[in-house]
Amino acid sequence: MEQVKRQKDMTVEELETALERLSQKRYNRNVEELTDKEAYVCLLELTKEAMATTEPIKGAKKVYYISAEFLIGKLLSNNLINLGIYDKVAEVLKVKGKELAKMEEIEPEPSLGNGGLGRLAACFLDSIATLGLPGEGIGLNYHFGLFRQVFRDRLQKAEKNDWIEEASWLNKTDIGFQVAFGERKVTSRLYDIDVAGYGNGINKLRLFDIESLDESIVEEGIDFDKELIEKNLTLFLYPDDSDEAGNLLRIYQQYFMVSNGAQLILHQMKEEGYNLHRLYDHAVIQINDTHPTMVIPELIRLLVKEEGFGMEEAINVVSKTCAYTNHTILAEALEKWPLRYLKKVVPQLIPIIKELDRRIKARNKDPKVQIIDKDGRVHMAHIDIHYGFSVNGVAAIHTQILKDTELNAFYKLYPGKFNNKTNGITFRRWLLACNRELADFLGETIGEDYKKDAGCLEKLLEYQDDQTVLDKLAEIKMNRKKELAAYVKEAEGVVLNPDSIFDIQIKRMHEYKRQQMNALYIIHKYLEIKAGKKPATPLTFLFGAKAAPAYVIAQDIIHLLLVLQEIINKDSEVNPYMTLLMVENYNVSYAEKLIPACDISEQISLASKEASGTGNMKFMLNGAVTLGTSDGANVEIHELVGDDNIYIFGEKSETVIKHYEKADYVSRDYYEKSPVIKEAVDFIVGEQALALGHKENLERLYKELLNKDWFMTLLDLEDYIKAKDRIFQDYEDRQKWKKMMLVNIAKAGFFSSDRTIAEYNRDIWKL
Ligand SMILES: *Cc1c(COP(=O)(O)O)cnc(C)c1O
Repeated sequence: MEQVKRQKDMTVEELETALERLSQKRYNRNVEELTDKEAYVCLLELTKEAMATTEPIKGAKKVYYISAEFLIGKLLSNNLINLGIYDKVAEVLKVKGKELAKMEEIEPEPSLGNGGLGRLAACFLDSIATLGLPGEGIGLNYHFGLFRQVFRDRLQKAEKNDWIEEASWLNKTDIGFQVAFGERKVTSRLYDIDVAGYGNGINKLRLFDIESLDESIVEEGIDFDKELIEKNLTLFLYPDDSDEAGNLLRIYQQYFMVSNGAQLILHQMKEEGYNLHRLYDHAVIQINDTHPTMVIPELIRLLVKEEGFGMEEAINVVSKTCAYTNHTILAEALEKWPLRYLKKVVPQLIPIIKELDRRIKARNKDPKVQIIDKDGRVHMAHIDIHYGFSVNGVAAIHTQILKDTELNAFYKLYPGKFNNKTNGITFRRWLLACNRELADFLGETIGEDYKKDAGCLEKLLEYQDDQTVLDKLAEIKMNRKKELAAYVKEAEGVVLNPDSIFDIQIKRMHEYKRQQMNALYIIHKYLEIKAGKKPATPLTFLFGAKAAPAYVIAQDIIHLLLVLQEIINKDSEVNPYMTLLMVENYNVSYAEKLIPACDISEQISLASKEASGTGNMKFMLNGAVTLGTSDGANVEIHELVGDDNIYIFGEKSETVIKHYEKADYVSRDYYEKSPVIKEAVDFIVGEQALALGHKENLERLYKELLNKDWFMTLLDLEDYIKAKDRIFQDYEDRQKWKKMMLVNIAKAGFFSSDRTIAEYNRDIWKL
């Protein structure tokens, strides 16, 4: 193979020659004669070559970001942008009669994550490399990843998502380790994906796989025999954990990930000739939520058993190496594994976990901080907090709640460990790639600096009264709305009106995120229009969300939305004024189309429950206005843009937390005292809905709202209706709206993940 020179210095002609060479080699034809799919494969190879010949990022200390999820999204355009050859490659393709946009569509999306947590890990890898910091992601190579969502009979059905093709970003390495589950031993195989920094070198995402995997054991949908560990270990991301076999499989996956990760790290340290007794001088392990927690006892075990450390020193060294990020205060998400399960899967860790627990109990009698509780459950987060040197939350309010309530007992023990790192997003994907027209316009207006230093976006504030700039922002938004409408027509068969207001809620389906509250508003609006009260500008409500297969109420909310979609869109009295669409299989690629087209960003979680949110940041950056509660990073968005450029409603987190403490929230009271609420809730089990929907699902949801409503939908519904009517009214003042768009874009710089990563490095990693 000829040597490819540093990609960013390559000319259009050289790139063309390289592409021709790959085309000849693989297909024995000229690029012009290739199908789009074949051309895509050559482009993939070209990009991989370019990365293989770019300098790896090096340094004396490296961060290992270990995470069960990396929701990386499609990689082609991002890699081309980060390598600095996007425009040149687009030109080469054009000469060959091909379109880069088509290649982007052909690429399958890796489905290695559920939602925000996995997407954050992906943004962080981009920023770590962009800042030139040595770092690796460590995770698993799930062959079918997160399920593909299809709607049948107005219900979500899960199908396997077969994303790995013969030509892919994965590079098979010759690295593999032995991993033991008690007597059961398996061999791993490491696959790498190169991560190109924007104008910088290359880091790696390390994905472990198992050699004995057998894809053929998958039956209908996403069902398979959960006990065949050797064959199923890396088939799916978080398979159904509603039964014991599902839970055990999760523990198998977690241990497989961390044992491989720990072995890889020690292997690299030895290769570099570093002294393992000073591991923390050369490695820092960032534990992304509790899923990788077992890396702590596993590293201790390896140091003691393989490297001759005493227990005391092993614990010491590991504690100085590991740092933990907390992502949630939802009790059900903080993992507590029964000791019985751990004994079954990882008996070799039991003595270590017991020793870690014994040491805590010896000095602290408070049951709140123990690792193994009186019911024999192991609190994974407690291992991280006691035996890691840093604990961070992901937005200011979230970190404050951790300190004040959820983790208060720990905060009192270790005040110095607690710190906040407000989440961020990579602007390469969420602006430069998904909204090139806006990115280019910003570059022409305020200069290109903002691409490397997001704070420079503030320069846009100088143009608040510049009519050309304001009009251009509105024009770009309209272009994205038209593009989305064209795509949706093709993909979903639904017609959207680009002149309507695009009001969008896209995120995982969860009661705390309160899609059900948005649904109740939509029912309310539908009934108003039926009664003759028409909106000044037509309204388009868009949803995208997957629900965990075992989460029954979340499935019911999807069902309700699909039923409402049919009722509204088929009602000729209403459909000129209002459209509802729940898009199928919401994922990163869909987000990249929806977000630039959004006018109103719905961030309506119950205050205190959304740790940060990152969708809110992507929307803001693309000129949407936020309608949200005082929760997560919404609070920081509010502070940055000021009262005039955001719509905040609903009870504050302090009030909500008090309701939980006193257990005094009764949803039925809200239902009974408000005719508006009653009318909307009753609609769920009214004649019209039952004519289309399933009684079982709709009644279950109705009863849940009336009898439990754990996430307090009805608490905020009236205020939500008021806020929404206010924001729709303000949309009519086009000049005011354009200014709000501008201020939101200008203030989004703080939410660049480059800022977040610079803070992680300054306060925690110290690379
Ligand atoms: C950003 C993103 C999320 C997170 O959205 P939130 O609104 O913060 O929950 C989830 N899924 C995808 C595909 C995303 O891109």
